[in-house]
Amino acid sequence: MNKPAVTPAAHFTNFIRNIIDTDLASGRYASRTWGGRPGPAAAHAGAPSDPARIRTRFPPEPNGYLHFGHAKSICLNFGLARDYGGVCHMRFDDTNPEKEEQEYVDSILAAVRWLGFDWSAHGTEHLYHASDYFNFMYQAAEYLVGAGHAYVDEQSAEELRATRGTLTEHGQASPWRERPAAESLARLREMRLGKHADGSMVLRAKIDMTSPNINLRDPAIYRIRKATHHRTGDTWCIYPMYAYAHPIEDALEQITHSICTLEFEDQRPFYDWLLARLSEGGLLARPLPQQIEFARLNLSYVVLSKRKLIQLVDEGHVDGWDDPRLPTLVAARRRGYTPEGFRLFAERIGVSKSDAWIDYSVLEECMREHLNEVAPRRTAVLDPVKLVIDNYPEGAAEECLAPNHPQKPELGKRALPFSRELWIEREDFMEAPSKGYFRLYAGNRVRLRYGFVIECTGCDKDAAGRVSAVHCNYFADSKSGTPGADIYKVKGNIHWVSAAHAYQCEVRLYDRLFKSPHPGAGERDFLLDLNPDAKKVISAQLEPSLQQAQPEERFQFERHGYFVADRIDSMPGAPVFNRAVTLKDTWQK
Ligand code: ATP
Ligand code: MG
Repeated sequence: MNKPAVTPAAHFTNFIRNIIDTDLASGRYASRTWGGRPGPAAAHAGAPSDPARIRTRFPPEPNGYLHFGHAKSICLNFGLARDYGGVCHMRFDDTNPEKEEQEYVDSILAAVRWLGFDWSAHGTEHLYHASDYFNFMYQAAEYLVGAGHAYVDEQSAEELRATRGTLTEHGQASPWRERPAAESLARLREMRLGKHADGSMVLRAKIDMTSPNINLRDPAIYRIRKATHHRTGDTWCIYPMYAYAHPIEDALEQITHSICTLEFEDQRPFYDWLLARLSEGGLLARPLPQQIEFARLNLSYVVLSKRKLIQLVDEGHVDGWDDPRLPTLVAARRRGYTPEGFRLFAERIGVSKSDAWIDYSVLEECMREHLNEVAPRRTAVLDPVKLVIDNYPEGAAEECLAPNHPQKPELGKRALPFSRELWIEREDFMEAPSKGYFRLYAGNRVRLRYGFVIECTGCDKDAAGRVSAVHCNYFADSKSGTPGADIYKVKGNIHWVSAAHAYQCEVRLYDRLFKSPHPGAGERDFLLDLNPDAKKVISAQLEPSLQQAQPEERFQFERHGYFVADRIDSMPGAPVFNRAVTLKDTWQK
């Protein structure tokens, strides 16, 4: 049966698109100028109007490998920019000196490119680093202090925690809250010069200790951290807090729609407060960016928390960050998942304001849909047993023609060598057939796909009673595609590979990493839910053409699923294959 083609980018509408449509219609961002690169108000003042109708950004912290949740965010942000004539900035949110490494930076860029996006537009590479804005962030902090909007607090970490209040109780004002601006400024400068120890003081915004929103109770905006940064080295020993840095990054880059996950909703009032203060001080250009929150991707049968992914790798439950079992994008690539499949998935799950679980089968179905379109068909016997055609001449061989894609005759046919001894799947023979079994058993006829009709005569067994070979005779006038071949009516149709010509190789059968839809639900150790059958390594017999497969070439192994030549372990002329996904959902209850 013909499957429907991959749904073209249908651009289902959603609440974010509605916001953008409204903003464009009202001209909310029409007055923006663009000075050619990110910068404060002065850098954009008098510059030409922004050629980008909207600006979005994808802002990962370079402290790990991207996972399937990030793919949702990438497709969303880059996709909106593409569809609205905008630009999406690739930004490293590298304000935290610890745990950030070049290795992660490189892998993140490669993953975004692999998904089919890039950050060059209007002759500019919109690749930015939050750490490039440290100077401005610091100047802005001095401005806030001078304007009475921030102060240096010398309470200890415990005191800060104890005076923050709770959801039901107000916070208490710090004894340092009303100190003169000049005194705070002097302290801030000492902090910057490294005169004080880590944790001995922080710079806090001065907002409202009685706010019901804890994020507005004088949040810390700068802290002392005598650590080497992977890009700025030892230039700084104070670093901005994320909540302070992020809105500034957006504003310097003239972002219009700053899209983030729901847990930042309570941060939005501070986001707006901070940008309002800095723009009224003339530091930032208006109109200001707006933060919009959407529900993060929660996907069943995997974990998407960085902490848990690190644990899986560090404790050796998987073989590194690109182990095809992991839900990272480097792993997905090795596994044979496709960028088109991810983009289709992102379109299909959409964006919403409420958290929900997406079943893993939705992702698998998107991969199948795309792979079905593009993957040429090949023959592979994964659990081989010999089939001997006793009436076929020994030493003889001929070719059978098989289509490369049943729905795409333009992809042509290939020749499968046929000979007296073939490999077939062990499960395609039964000594004592069960009811409704139409494949091989003594006396029954089947068609060898693209080849001849055969009649089974029996089998040989080894000392342990296991079938070691199946015997049959063939009908010389039954070859597929030859005149009169269709007078043979058989119910079974099985695949095969000529034993003398087969390419024997390693095939890895991957399945879901966890056997439970919500690993670790209810305080349970998530490791207990690992699926021990998520990886099986077998030795399979493949049609000879597969020996020439190039790394990352994808195929449908007929009746089995979609497979890819592993991009890491394949050698020239000796590929090994990974199963991306089975042909059908085997997990449905
Ligand atoms: P951590 O797990 O350390 O909190 P993170 O997953 O938030 O990190 P970031 O590098 O901060 O990782 O994320 C970059 C972007 O990807 C952010 O804008 C974030 O909102 C988005 N993102 C991360 N996880 C998901 C998810 N599960 N679904 C959708 N977007 C996500
Ligand atoms: Mg984060």
